[in-house]
Amino acid sequence: MVETMDAVLMKTRLPMGRRQMAAERLLQGTLALAVCEICHHRCGANRLEGPAGRCGAAAEPNVFSAQIEVGDEHEIIPAYAIALAGCNMRCAFCITGDESWHPRRGHRLDAADVAGRASAAIGKGQADSLLVLGGEPTIHLPWLLELVAAMPEKARLVLKTNGLSTSAVRAVLDGLFDVWIVDFKFGNDACAEKLSLTRGYTGAVGETLLWAASHTDLIIRHLLMPGHVDCCWRPAAEWISIHLPGAKVSLRSGYWPTWRAADHVPLDRPLDAAELSEAMAVATHLKLHLVP
Ligand code: SF4
Repeated sequence: MVETMDAVLMKTRLPMGRRQMAAERLLQGTLALAVCEICHHRCGANRLEGPAGRCGAAAEPNVFSAQIEVGDEHEIIPAYAIALAGCNMRCAFCITGDESWHPRRGHRLDAADVAGRASAAIGKGQADSLLVLGGEPTIHLPWLLELVAAMPEKARLVLKTNGLSTSAVRAVLDGLFDVWIVDFKFGNDACAEKLSLTRGYTGAVGETLLWAASHTDLIIRHLLMPGHVDCCWRPAAEWISIHLPGAKVSLRSGYWPTWRAADHVPLDRPLDAAELSEAMAVATHLKLHLVP
């Protein structure tokens, strides 16, 4: 059978690189801000005209931190970490409270400029990967696309997210980051609503976790909170053991009471030894794959 010219061309065409994919999706990412449904809140705000939705973010993000970090999961450090101001959650215990809650903290930096700094750090051997975090980075979709489009094709790119992105946004980000670190903060909707003003949390984050597990390298992160081992960690761990057995789980024990945590006793104190022991017993019983 004689192949058509189109069939021959399809076979010989090089796969589209990550940079090109990001560049080609930039218009789509920018238009998404016009009626913003980038996250679970689905405000419908026009962010191209300025801050208008629940997150208070406009079209361009500010950067509040850009530095080498070594305190994250072992497999991604040292990382050149870039933190974008603004978030779509309102966690009372947020470690970066002011910068995360207020998107105008920090400074405007071009994505290409950040890419240049990160590439230089990776090139000099100071960092193994670029880590993008917040606040919440996915609410700044066009900037993320610009960043990926400006990074070297082979650089290891890591996205740390709270998992509230919608399926349309995940599709735009598909194939652009090597690793997604997804925070699974709360094990039930009542705690999520009380402590982060987020309704329907477990359904939204569950969707993202399932998507990420089948589209990228996934690390599920859970910060153990004092007084929330039974109501938050245990059900989160059970969900993981049922839906994503074998997934990498980063169980963080370094909770520190900060920002508005004092308004939510017992979040006004560090985790105690008994709680850490109980949390580890849950992980062991459920055979979770903990990673350092
Ligand atoms: S990112 Fe989320 S919170 Fe912010 S405007 Fe869009 S839908 Fe609303």
